[in-house]
Amino acid sequence: MSQLPKDLLDILACPRCRGPLVVEPESLRCDACHLRYRVDNGIPVMLISEAETLDPDGNAAPHATD
Ligand SMILES: [Zn+2]
Repeated sequence: MSQLPKDLLDILACPRCRGPLVVEPESLRCDACHLRYRVDNGIPVMLISEAETLDPDGNAAPHATD
């Protein structure tokens, strides 16, 4: 499990809405956009095109589109 440094988290925001992100063990989640950004070897991949679309319950949608 990767732990992101606090100073890194301070500058991270959702690239779509600029809102705060929820830190998960291996990803960062934006509840406003229902997107999940993966963390790749400790590096957050803050790309909307790479994000996983979530349904309102927080589960991965069956067909994420880009
Ligand atoms: Zn967002």
